Amino acid sequence: MKPILDKAREDHYAVAAPNVLDYKTIDVAIKTAEKKNAPIILNVTFETNDDLSTFVNYAKDKAIHSKVPVAINLDHGGDYEQIIKSLKMDFTSIMVDRSMLEFEDNIKEVSEIVKIAHTLGCSVEAELGHVGTNIGADSEGMLGSNTIITEEDKKATFTKVEEAVEYVERTKVDCLAVAIGTVHGLYPKGLKPSIDFELLKKLRDAVKVPLVIHGGSGSGDDNLARACKEGICKVNICSDLLKKGREYINNGYLKDSDDMLTKLMYPLPAYYAGYSDMLEYYIDLFKSTNKA
Ligand SMILES: [Zn+2]
Repeated sequence: MKPILDKAREDHYAVAAPNVLDYKTIDVAIKTAEKKNAPIILNVTFETNDDLSTFVNYAKDKAIHSKVPVAINLDHGGDYEQIIKSLKMDFTSIMVDRSMLEFEDNIKEVSEIVKIAHTLGCSVEAELGHVGTNIGADSEGMLGSNTIITEEDKKATFTKVEEAVEYVERTKVDCLAVAIGTVHGLYPKGLKPSIDFELLKKLRDAVKVPLVIHGGSGSGDDNLARACKEGICKVNICSDLLKKGREYINNGYLKDSDDMLTKLMYPLPAYYAGYSDMLEYYIDLFKSTNKA
């Protein structure tokens, strides 16, 4: 992942990092990237598949035979055991999320993992500040709950510039996820997060590795396009891709020639088409088209 992101940092664009949820989305994500001639980072979580090793191996095979650069990233790697198990698989990078720990503890745990990962040729992404989660804040069919993060709650968790500089120097991570205003999941309908662009600029100038944002979905096109231009090199997106997939199913997206029965019986092609179209849209927005 490191070379893919270093190039993005130099050329001021960002690489899309969609979650892949099953074997078919691996194919779809890579095909979409090939269509756009764009590099891509496949985000895989530890819970994605019961046989994760085989799943990642499949992704690796597809990546090797792809016409564009593909990284396979463990997203939000959990405890030490999970990280070490992942390092034995074919991940090209792992994200170690210790953002809930105190600064010194975060550094201590992540540095140790970086040493091991780098020995094995695997890149490491870490997070400083904390990117929270909107749980089911969306009114369009997401899980129901009232956990909506307020702007004030968020500001307290934003990444601090001096800490970020020290953190990267001491841990030797290859890229850093920063908290500048986005949160995981979807936002309540009509609400777009406010992104602290001044903070982003300071981070971009001071921190010597590529910056990442999580919670790209629903952040607003203007926000995302500007963030990618002004210092973000990797955007994690999941919810918007799934949402578009569901939309295509609900709207009966298929060729006109398909009858209603076909549409009802075979909703999956519509789902993947929605996922792919949304991903394509974001690749354009992040300006990574033709950057393979
Ligand atoms: Zn995340």
